[in-house]
Amino acid sequence: MVLAELGGSISRALKRMSDATVVDDKALADCLNEITRALLQADVRFAAVRDLQNNIRRLVNLEALAAGTNKRKIIQQAVFCELCSMLDPGKPSFVPAKGKPSVVMFVGLQGSGKTTTCTKYAYHHRRKGFNPALVCADTFRAGAFDQLKQNATKARIPFYGSYNESDPVKIAVEGVDRFRKENYDLIIVDTSGRHKQEAALFEEMRQVSEATKPDLVIFVMDGSIGQAAFDQAQAFKQSASVGAVIVTKMDGHAKGGGALSAVAATKSPVIFIGTGEHIDEFEVFDVKPFVNRLLG
Ligand code: GDP
Repeated sequence: MVLAELGGSISRALKRMSDATVVDDKALADCLNEITRALLQADVRFAAVRDLQNNIRRLVNLEALAAGTNKRKIIQQAVFCELCSMLDPGKPSFVPAKGKPSVVMFVGLQGSGKTTTCTKYAYHHRRKGFNPALVCADTFRAGAFDQLKQNATKARIPFYGSYNESDPVKIAVEGVDRFRKENYDLIIVDTSGRHKQEAALFEEMRQVSEATKPDLVIFVMDGSIGQAAFDQAQAFKQSASVGAVIVTKMDGHAKGGGALSAVAATKSPVIFIGTGEHIDEFEVFDVKPFVNRLLG
């Protein structure tokens, strides 16, 4: 089930409830069961789905509602609010300010779209008047520096990296120091990934983070990873204090559940989504418009 299907299923459940002759406990239960099924199929964690059900039941007490109250609307609003609160950890992330140097470190598994997203993030901010620069501290993957260099050159964004140095901490520190001296106000550090979660990767993230003291650590995840997202996000959160999430490949087979899990695991908001391979296929993420769009 892709994300659009999740939205479609929830909308249909709400419409069926809305079309029922009477909105009673049974109509509400049927609607909630349908929504539950859709969320589980979209790989949302069971615990989160159970909480959503309980919260809606608590919010909507049909018996206690005064005669004439629009029960349909109350249920619809409760579902909307609960979906929003699943995506909203309740605290905003660090926001870089123009003219004031910030270091933003990107973490994520190999293939998540991290390097592509670093350039998209830099490009987005440059269009907003920032002066960004990119540091490639990925010494693990052969070709990582070339890829960043190519992306950065195309977008005309200054970059720093090395073909010979194998210590990612050293490159990260050198790059950050250099761009700080040159008065760049948004220094973006791309880091290594691995195909799977490994102790060595998390130790490396801890060291790079300790050495560069980022103002923000962004966890990048592939939107289609589903159930694996919670553990993955939590593991990164433990090694570098993740403060925001970017979900990539939302143009593909993203089901949505993974993004919800990453928010829950890191207690951090999704700030952007990637919607394609191209540099400007990148959108600011806002919870309410997203849920509105999801429900059509
Ligand atoms: P990294 O290993 O995490 O640095 O991942 P890369 O940045 O190399 O990206 C892996 C692949 O995913 C590349 O082919 C990218 O073009 C692609 N990619 C990254 N973001 C998106 C996205 O939002 N949508 C799509 N369709 N592809 C993406």
